[in-house]
Amino acid sequence: MKICPQCTSDSHERTSSTGLRVVGCIVLLFIPYGFFICWVPFVLPHKFLCNVCGYHGKEEELLNLDWRESEELKGQHRELHEKLQPVKDMWVQDTKQNSYKVIHGKGQYLLLKVLENNIVPYRIVGYDKDTDPKRIMIKDNLVENFNVTSSISKIIDKSNVQVNDFGKTILLDEEVTKFFSCNVEEFSQWLNEQAKVALLIDIEVLPNTERTIIEGKNGYSNKSTLFTNENEEEASDSKKYNDFHV
Ligand SMILES: [Zn+2]
Repeated sequence: MKICPQCTSDSHERTSSTGLRVVGCIVLLFIPYGFFICWVPFVLPHKFLCNVCGYHGKEEELLNLDWRESEELKGQHRELHEKLQPVKDMWVQDTKQNSYKVIHGKGQYLLLKVLENNIVPYRIVGYDKDTDPKRIMIKDNLVENFNVTSSISKIIDKSNVQVNDFGKTILLDEEVTKFFSCNVEEFSQWLNEQAKVALLIDIEVLPNTERTIIEGKNGYSNKSTLFTNENEEEASDSKKYNDFHV
């Protein structure tokens, strides 16, 4: 099994074309001395695109797991899913009263953060139930396919945002209606009044370059930061970077 070096997903596709290499080879045959270099297109490294985090790299960067490592990775994914199952579809809040919904969709556990003008998905990569408050670790590298609205921009006018088909499968109608009818503080207050908030949590944003699942719990140490406003900006920039590359 070959997995993405960034998110450990085995869902990726080759983005470089063998057909184009054949065409390049034929073109080279028609130029002077091209016969001697017509093999060059075939030794250029193939590239891949990850369908989960959007990482675009050389195929040689893919991690090749043997049977035992594949089973170990599946076990780690299963363990994370089992830990998150009790909070699936629940609303949680951090100490600053930011609201998030934990959902499972398209094979991934996602954390949807409610912003003033949008609802933005993050990929959940860890959940520590033993801290007080409990801590959810996230990464922001996620392809557009996981967006729940028509745009991930934070500065877009709310009237230009629509919840897309995927969003409609994971957000209740009343939640969508309330989101569009009030500001973010009122939305968090409404969740509390409706007794919809199940947990107080810490959110920790991990660097996208850090492999987490495959490195186990120790991979979380030292490199991560709590979700502050500055980190949020960084996360947003990083997301734009990833989208640019998708
Ligand atoms: Zn990936």
